Amino acid sequence: MEYYSSHINKLIEQLSHLPGIGAKSAQRLAFHIMNMPVEQVAQLTDSIKNARENVRYCKCCYTLTDRELCPICSNPNRDHGVIMVVENTRDLAAYEKTGKFEGVYHVLHGAISPMLGIGPDDIKLKELMQRLQQEVKEVIIATNSSLEGETTAMYISKLIKPTGIKVSRIASGVPVGGDLEYIDEVTLLRALEGRVEL
Ligand code: ZN
Repeated sequence: MEYYSSHINKLIEQLSHLPGIGAKSAQRLAFHIMNMPVEQVAQLTDSIKNARENVRYCKCCYTLTDRELCPICSNPNRDHGVIMVVENTRDLAAYEKTGKFEGVYHVLHGAISPMLGIGPDDIKLKELMQRLQQEVKEVIIATNSSLEGETTAMYISKLIKPTGIKVSRIASGVPVGGDLEYIDEVTLLRALEGRVEL
């Protein structure tokens, strides 16, 4: 590593902290950045900084947004009595792309994982339960079909059951361990339509 300038080494190190970026990819990205025009690098760093500084959680569904209330929560044409629970904003985007879901969402920002020490208090679960004080007809649990996703689904359904609100789980047509964001729209729709009541 001492073959490079210390600035490049630092850049490689920072990039390698990003998810999915190993040492080799970090090096490749760093050298790519070195060959970019200075103005383009400035645009990149500005957009990273602006996104991080200006994006916040929607105060209702906790998705990432730049407003107090996200466009979905503030849309009167959506059915606010049907809440789909997803693990992250990318999963929300995947369902939105199908254009077929008319309800609203709740973004947990993670899943329960005893192995990683992530408990119910580490995700936006209390916030979901608070939302259920209002009139809600159905909660559709659309967490991933990974072990963590299933654990979370089970936990949520047990919490909600006593309230009498209908709880359903998207169909298991979603491949096991599959991240929702990588699944095509047809599969997502089928999973949504084939949901089963818990
Ligand atoms: Zn929202």
